[in-house]
Amino acid sequence: MVVDVQVDFCPGGALAVKDGDEVVSGLNRVIKEFERRSLPIFFTRDWHPVDHISFKSRGGIWPSHCVQGTPGAKFHPGLRIPAAAVIISKGTSRDAEAYSGFQGTGLEERLTSLGINEIFLGGLTTDYCVRETTLDARKAGLAVTVMEDCIRAVDARPGDGARALADMRRVGAKLATSEEVAKRLASTQQ
Ligand SMILES: [Zn+2]
Repeated sequence: MVVDVQVDFCPGGALAVKDGDEVVSGLNRVIKEFERRSLPIFFTRDWHPVDHISFKSRGGIWPSHCVQGTPGAKFHPGLRIPAAAVIISKGTSRDAEAYSGFQGTGLEERLTSLGINEIFLGGLTTDYCVRETTLDARKAGLAVTVMEDCIRAVDARPGDGARALADMRRVGAKLATSEEVAKRLASTQQ
């Protein structure tokens, strides 16, 4: 599962995360292995209305970002998006924030209907959407591996990223590198 690897969260974007674009190559490596094995791949995205509640213009804490249909809401241009990928849009209603890909999206039902009980996850940002998505996935009973080289933190308060990692481990998420995950996929039988 690829969380919010969008232009606005990458360097030069409206809510840029330091080195946010560095997650792309590791994610692409794992995406390729998923494709090779015809495993389902989900991409979440922030997909906000122009007057979203999280924006400073409405008293929220964030600058305007990932507004539906704008260039900043697009996925990073280097990210590999297979034709069969499932896109999950969140934060789509003007009065509700959604950090988690599970929030108001029907994602849990989709995973259940596909018989999925384990996910591998990376993206942006460690201390918000990756954290919340991971916590919700664990609540839904899924095994979760967070690819630690494929996440980057906002770190609005120093240490937020590290605390988020600790939170994710506390609820039972495993950490691995994208290389380990790709190797593991490559070595398992079809
Ligand atoms: Zn947002």
